[in-house]
Amino acid sequence: MFDPNIIKKDFPILNRTVRNGKPLVYLDSAATSQKPQAVIDSIVEYYTQHNANVHRGIHALGDESTRMFYAARNTIAKFFSADTNELILMRNTTEAINAVVYMWAEDHVSVGDVILTTEMEHHSNLVPWQVFAKRKGCSIEYVRVTESGELDMADLKKKLRKGVKLVAMSHVSNTLGVMNPVAEISKLAHVVGTLVLVDGAQSAPHLPIDFHKLGCDFFAFSGHKMVGPMGIGGLLVRAEVFKHMHPFLYGGGMINEVSLDTTTFADVPDAYIAGTPDVASTVGLAAACNYLSKLGMEQVVKHDAELVSYALNQLKKISQLHIVGPMDARKRCGSVAFIYDGVHAHDVAQILDSEGIAVRSGHHCTMPLHAKFKWGATTRASFNVYTTKEDIDVLIRGIQKVKEVFGK
Ligand code: PMP
Repeated sequence: MFDPNIIKKDFPILNRTVRNGKPLVYLDSAATSQKPQAVIDSIVEYYTQHNANVHRGIHALGDESTRMFYAARNTIAKFFSADTNELILMRNTTEAINAVVYMWAEDHVSVGDVILTTEMEHHSNLVPWQVFAKRKGCSIEYVRVTESGELDMADLKKKLRKGVKLVAMSHVSNTLGVMNPVAEISKLAHVVGTLVLVDGAQSAPHLPIDFHKLGCDFFAFSGHKMVGPMGIGGLLVRAEVFKHMHPFLYGGGMINEVSLDTTTFADVPDAYIAGTPDVASTVGLAAACNYLSKLGMEQVVKHDAELVSYALNQLKKISQLHIVGPMDARKRCGSVAFIYDGVHAHDVAQILDSEGIAVRSGHHCTMPLHAKFKWGATTRASFNVYTTKEDIDVLIRGIQKVKEVFGK
């Protein structure tokens, strides 16, 4: 049975107290999730028992480390129902998106072409395209976000046409909490010959992802948001698209043979691992995937839906709050952000912090979205497998404290 109170015990940091002995209530999982003991142990075990560089050297540790690295890569790919040769390990979502610029877009997008993205994107899926478009002389267009905080599908259909080389969009918005219909959009895009890049930073931790069923061409994710370590994530690439890409890092580890004149390269995906990989974090991410798989992603998503629905219902009772994003919990995932009427988000977060509650305040790397709606800043509570309804009750009591302090 999925019980977040039992799951909490797997995460040692959640035992901590902060701010003069207040029990930690961690509601900042969209920024980064906490790590279960199983993930921490896997990293400690790797460094205490197996550490050696991969591929190189015929010795016991090198052999163990290489086997662990490959096994971990298989586990991670399988978690997304993808093939191992569709996974390129990356440091995080940001690196994965930038890699698409260098590995694919450089060769396939040119003057006059269009990159289509959305008004709700995290800067990590916006700035790389803006800079690329300026450099290449192609244009960038944005699909509108509606007043209720959803992707305007009519606007998307209007803008998606021949000449649009890529749709780059988030699966789940880290500010609006809204889920975007990426499977449907991938189908529409492929009809006009457009590839699709999905920023899965906020969906991978909560939704069961089947890369092939999603139908997109690129799927970027960060391990640290899905109870895995920092510094490891990945880019899933449809096998057919791999044929039209090239690595953007060259050097040791990714070659077959090198002469002074020329080089032949390793097969995909090894050709995309230049230099020494972060083996310990890869092993840690595989442990995170195993941990989530053991909980069952169907249970994880159900738990998340209950939390989002509960949080929305409790927060909307507070008249001073304006919740951003759709009010229908079924359209959302992972987080709820809000504005406290007349009190700056940083003040709200500071008062909550004094009660031991960790939330995020600011623009959450979605400045254009905040500017569009003239929000200034928002406060975001975000969840993961260890979040309980009681945590949300503590948040609600913390918000009452804001009322007391500011008298409004
Ligand atoms: N996209 C979205 C939707 C995100 O929420 C985040 C992290 N806040 C990122 C991209 C970037 O993730 P990372 O910092 O791990 O690269």
